[in-house]
Amino acid sequence: MPDGLALKKTRTTCPYCGVGCGILASDAGDGKVLVSGDPDHPANFGRLCGKGAALGETLGVEGRLLHPQVYGRRVDWDSAIATVAEGFARTIAAHGPDSVAFYVSGQLLTEDYYVANKLMKGFIGSANIDTNSRLCMASSVAGHRRAFGADTVPGCYEDLEEADLVVAVGSNYAWCHPVLSQRLAEAKAKRPELRIVLIDPRRSASAELADLHLPIKPDSDVALFNGLLRWLEENGCGDDDFVAQHTHGLEAALASARETSLGEAARLTGLGLAELLDFYRLFTVTPKVVTLYSQGVNQSESGTDKVNAILNCHLLTGRIGKPGCGPFSLTGQPNAMGGREVGGLANQLAAHMDIENPGHRALVQGFWQAPAMPEKQGLKAVDLFEAVAAGRIKALWIMATNPAVSLPEADRVRAAIRDCPFVVVSDVEQRTDTGDVADVLLPAAAWGEKDGTVTNSERRISRQRAFLPAPGEARPDWKIICDVAAALGWGDAFAYTAPWQIFREYAALTADGNGGTRDLDLSGCLEWDGADYEAAAPFQWPFTAGEAAAGETEAAAPKRFFAEGGFFTEDRRARFVAVTPPAGEIGGLPFLLNTGRVRDQWHTMTRSGRSPRLAQHVAEPYVEIHPADAARLGVTPAGLVELTNHRGSYLARAVITERQQPGQLFAPMHWNGQTASAGRIDALVAPRRDPVSGQPALKMTRVTAMAAPLAWYGFAVVARRPADIPADYWALARSQAGFRLELGGRQVPADWPTFARRLFGLTAAEETVEFLAYGDSDKGSHRFAAFDAEGRPLGVLYVAAEPVAASRAWVCQQFDSGTLECGARRALLAGRACEGDADPGPIICSCFAVGRNQILAAVGAQKLTSVDCVSAATSAGSNCGSCRAEIQGLIDHVTVEAAE
Ligand code: SF4
Repeated sequence: MPDGLALKKTRTTCPYCGVGCGILASDAGDGKVLVSGDPDHPANFGRLCGKGAALGETLGVEGRLLHPQVYGRRVDWDSAIATVAEGFARTIAAHGPDSVAFYVSGQLLTEDYYVANKLMKGFIGSANIDTNSRLCMASSVAGHRRAFGADTVPGCYEDLEEADLVVAVGSNYAWCHPVLSQRLAEAKAKRPELRIVLIDPRRSASAELADLHLPIKPDSDVALFNGLLRWLEENGCGDDDFVAQHTHGLEAALASARETSLGEAARLTGLGLAELLDFYRLFTVTPKVVTLYSQGVNQSESGTDKVNAILNCHLLTGRIGKPGCGPFSLTGQPNAMGGREVGGLANQLAAHMDIENPGHRALVQGFWQAPAMPEKQGLKAVDLFEAVAAGRIKALWIMATNPAVSLPEADRVRAAIRDCPFVVVSDVEQRTDTGDVADVLLPAAAWGEKDGTVTNSERRISRQRAFLPAPGEARPDWKIICDVAAALGWGDAFAYTAPWQIFREYAALTADGNGGTRDLDLSGCLEWDGADYEAAAPFQWPFTAGEAAAGETEAAAPKRFFAEGGFFTEDRRARFVAVTPPAGEIGGLPFLLNTGRVRDQWHTMTRSGRSPRLAQHVAEPYVEIHPADAARLGVTPAGLVELTNHRGSYLARAVITERQQPGQLFAPMHWNGQTASAGRIDALVAPRRDPVSGQPALKMTRVTAMAAPLAWYGFAVVARRPADIPADYWALARSQAGFRLELGGRQVPADWPTFARRLFGLTAAEETVEFLAYGDSDKGSHRFAAFDAEGRPLGVLYVAAEPVAASRAWVCQQFDSGTLECGARRALLAGRACEGDADPGPIICSCFAVGRNQILAAVGAQKLTSVDCVSAATSAGSNCGSCRAEIQGLIDHVTVEAAE
């Protein structure tokens, strides 16, 4: 446990996804931090997924950025702040306020976001502040604003449990929002009549829970929902009263929808007419429907139209804002919603006000007593980095995000950051792909060390509370921003001494001139002081002064919008939006590349990559490819695949699977320059974006794919991170006792023992360690293992001409078990379990380290037919439940095999 841990139990919030689970952090009693689900938090009621449960493994200071650095030299904070302020002031003086920009993050807390936005928009006088939430849900924001007049999420999590039909569109919620998936699975277990439909080109893990999977063609969602709108209207499913009293524009939307016949909708979506109609009929006859959606909808050139196509169907049926009804945008990041609320997007002002509305601009400027206020939108993420590349942005401050990995054309973005005259990066990590090309590095406090608030997907504001001191000289982001603002001469407007003061100011802004005209109203927090803020329980907005006066806070019933209309347009009516399907598929290279996430990693792995437990699930970048495509290209199971286009290349392990449609590929977005040799998939991604939201189409890039046969393949576990990795292909992940490495090369090294020693980091002083070697040069097979004087492993390396077959889980287990007897050392060299020493296989359940082999053995031997039975027999899936979909897949696999 890091020094200074407060031993009391601290209520805080998970820093990963938009579910926003409550967490209890306490002293585990063994020098570590115990993390458990908060049973009182309304998002999770004590549940956590694997990522949340492993947070305790991510708290060490190794690799942390501990001191400010300017051009590679450690400096004190005063010098660093002066350098940043001087760099921005000089650029603004010479080139104007629009020559500078901030690129911020859904990892920031609302208070950090608020002051960053206030500084850029109100004091620097530019709207060039955008956030990585642009990559995540900007299309939902734009769709909400077009239909509702405000960025309002109408429903709440209870709706998923109260619905009779849940339609998940472009959402692998089983992996990306696992606790909501658990809540949904439990609801379905109680009410098997609850139907779940998954709409996704890929048969993702979420299909295991679904009654119906519709593998539509990529970007055919508008055709699907236009067809549904038309079907609903023609079959008398519209709520005429709701439409008449609370909406505008149905005829135009219907006219647009009618341009696509049912047969055409089937053709455009690639579905059979029968399955299309099955879905339409199910939607028609089920009054309580929730349509949830996330990146598969948003990350598209037609993302905003997709959102409005979905909203149109809910408006037509009046299925909105009632228990068990409504469209539901799931946010990716922990505080994407908070960022939206305080104007973190370049096209909005704080408190859900519009940058292009003169009244809103005047209100915010007056409230802040600000010297300036931009009159037009700033640069959205992709445009912002294009402006950096073009030299129009000359000073850039990047906070808590890693655009050199996560932006489309990531190589070009990295080069643009490197070539920008002045770049500041605030981060918790010493080494990131972005920080490596910055001029100034500012050490930020991390999760567990900072105080503030976050807002989850259902508009619930929760506190993140510190339970650790910040290491070294790390500071909270809000403090760093305010110090720079003061150095720029605006100290009075940024004279906060604690985050509660920022929150109260933000709450006052939501109330200013509101009077029910804006959805976001936190006037119930106007009287809060530090003690109220400290004690605040999670609550949904709006939270009005009237509610506060009545003594309501977190105990209030779930809050919904729009059941009785009351939209935030001028006439308080919602707008149907006429949308048309995009014209044809993008052409070009033979494969369509889809990118996304894996179950146990988060974004560019700067936090989740610290956890050995999480690395057990997927330890290297991969490409999912259909068996027919693999056979045609000569891609073999566990072989390597190279993806290329004119933007870059990506080298990763092949996963041959029918989950993928022919002609389509899937690759995860997490790997970066610190964890893989060529695993930055966004380097290949095209910068196309939605014309309304500016969100990039991260799921739609053309690439070529080819087998990448290597001369050798390797797997290693080493006690120390290698200084350099002498291989063409490598992927590095944490293990309990060191690091595990997947390796490969196009040329066979001249001297394998020297290669192994270099990889193990053995120095001359360690020549006395036991160094075991076995080789069969004819077969290209070599094994090496090194042990210290006590018999503890220092490194083990397996090399073969084919992908190495050693059980990774077993090898890591042996490596982690400390001193090994002679027989165990030889077994480790052989890469084979001793008798009675079972090989668990690849880890499926991260919580209890239960492997695939163990689950398959239990299912086969005990004839287990349900996930609950597997959990009872092996513990797998009995804690966080994130792996339950995969366990169901294994049960199905055994059942099918038995039937054949
Ligand atoms: Fe964190 Fe998992 Fe909850 Fe998301 S679902 S907030 S990652 S514990």
